[in-house]
Amino acid sequence: MAEIDLRRDVALGVTIPSRDARGRIARLGPVVDAVLANHDYPPLIEKLLAEALTLTALLGSLLKDPQGQMTLQAQTQGGIVDLMVCDFRAGELRGYVRFDRERLADASMSPALKEMFGDGYLAITFDQAGGDERYQGIVPLEGKTLADAAQSYFAQSEQIPSIVRLAAEKRDGHWTTGGLLFQHLPEGEEGRDRLHTRLDHPDWPHIAVLAGSVKPEELTDPDLPLDDLVWRLFHEEEEVRTLAAVTLVKGCRCDPDYVRSVIARFPPEERAEMVGDDGLIKVDCAFCSSSFSFPPDAVA
Ligand SMILES: [Zn+2]
Repeated sequence: MAEIDLRRDVALGVTIPSRDARGRIARLGPVVDAVLANHDYPPLIEKLLAEALTLTALLGSLLKDPQGQMTLQAQTQGGIVDLMVCDFRAGELRGYVRFDRERLADASMSPALKEMFGDGYLAITFDQAGGDERYQGIVPLEGKTLADAAQSYFAQSEQIPSIVRLAAEKRDGHWTTGGLLFQHLPEGEEGRDRLHTRLDHPDWPHIAVLAGSVKPEELTDPDLPLDDLVWRLFHEEEEVRTLAAVTLVKGCRCDPDYVRSVIARFPPEERAEMVGDDGLIKVDCAFCSSSFSFPPDAVA
């Protein structure tokens, strides 16, 4: 197997056993450009989605099941953005934002979450393959950044002390983003109740300080491999293990055969109602801003 490039489009798992800490660190480049290329978003929305995709890569790479799916969805009321969805499956990322262009024109240069999302909530859903197991947590979109909201998610929904950092920068027309997530995993984590959940565990502040010392320009440095960055942050620790890296690519599940099979499940009279003026059934994919058209008898 070819060696994975740890500088871009990759998420790397890290554990620090002596501190009961685990982490994920990610850097995205071409994959963000590829997702954004499907849309024609203004700079603020591009940056928001670039950060959201980075968070999605961090959270998605926590999935134990390689075919599981992680979905990040911002549901909002009264904000500039009225919907933002990103998901991850087996290293495939996709995402889109629905927003009000007129109101965005009046937005501040670096708006807080409240301005962008109004009374918004962030829903984070982990689905295992086969759809048997699903876990969803929901937190208010409060604070300055998506990283703040993600930290609240772990504190409120999962009672896991966590630190999340995200950074995104566009240079010469190309995005580079980076993020890290570190968590304290108390005793009893795997499959047992967390009897010792303590937000004040003595090892945690130490890891939080080290992880939190990462600079935005380190996260978005396209020449700094992630393992070097991990070393830079944690080299004084007794033992730091890196896990298998996950390659990140743009992926969408809107393939025509699948769409056709979904439409075929509707009763004929409902399918007849889907036929447009041009005599075709048209299905849009919000993720890739594309649409498919079929003659109705092609799906019958
Ligand atoms: Zn699509």
